[in-house]
Amino acid sequence: MEFERVAIMLNTTVLLPNLILAVAKTIEINAEELTALDQAIGDGDHVTNLQRGIQALTAQSEALSQLDWQAALQKIGMTVMSSIGGASGSLYGTLFLGMSKNLQNQPLTLTTFADVFLKGVEAVKQRGKADRGEKTMLDVLIPVAEQLQKDANKPDLLEQIKLIAIAGVESTRDMLATKGRASFLGERSRGHIDAGAKSSQLIICAIVDALATT
Ligand code: ADP
Ligand code: MG
Repeated sequence: MEFERVAIMLNTTVLLPNLILAVAKTIEINAEELTALDQAIGDGDHVTNLQRGIQALTAQSEALSQLDWQAALQKIGMTVMSSIGGASGSLYGTLFLGMSKNLQNQPLTLTTFADVFLKGVEAVKQRGKADRGEKTMLDVLIPVAEQLQKDANKPDLLEQIKLIAIAGVESTRDMLATKGRASFLGERSRGHIDAGAKSSQLIICAIVDALATT
C-alpha cells in the first residue's frame, strides 16, 4: 500500500463518495451473513438499519465531498443518527459526531485522524455505557483506536488495522453479551459473533481497501 499517498489523500473530502460506495458494497455483499448474525442473538434488522443510513449518505455523497472534514463528519453523524435507527444508529452517529467535534479546524492527517477517532470511540463508550469485552462493536472499535494511537505513521499501519479489526470480531464469539439485545439471552449469547462488531470490521476494512485503490 502506498502509505504516503493515503496520507495525502486525507487532505480532502473528495474521496468521500468512493468511501461511501465501498461501504455500501461491503454491506451488500455480506448482507446475508450479517443478517444471520443479528438473527442469532438480536432481532435481525442490523443490515436493513445500516442500509437506510447508507442510502441517505449516498444521496448526500456529492454534497459531502464539497465540505471540509469537520463539517462532513458532522453531516454524516447527523444523517446516520436520524436514518439508521436501532442501537447501532445512535452509536455509529455518535462516533462520527464525536470525531467532528474533536477535529475543530485542524486538517485531517493520519495523526489527527488517530486522535479524533479515539475521541469518537470514547463518545460511543459513553453513549452505550459499554466497554471492551461486552460483545459489541466496541470490541472492534477500541482495539483499532488503540492501534492507531501506537504509531499513526507506521508504513504497514493500514494492513495492521485490518488484521486487528478481524481479530476483534472473532474475539466477540465466546464473549457473554452484557449490552444491547443480545444481553437478554444471557449465556446463550456465547458462540455467536456480534453483528455490530462484524459491520464495524467490514466498514473499516472497506475504507482501508478503498484508500489503497482510490
Ligand atoms: P438493535 O439492537 O436496536 O436491533 P442493530 O441491530 O442495528 O440495533 O445493532 C445492534 C448492534 O449494536 C449490536 O450488535 C452491538 O454491536 C451494538 N450495540 C448494542 N448496544 C450497544 C451498546 N450499549 N454499546 C455498544 N454497542 C452496542
Ligand atoms: Mg438488531
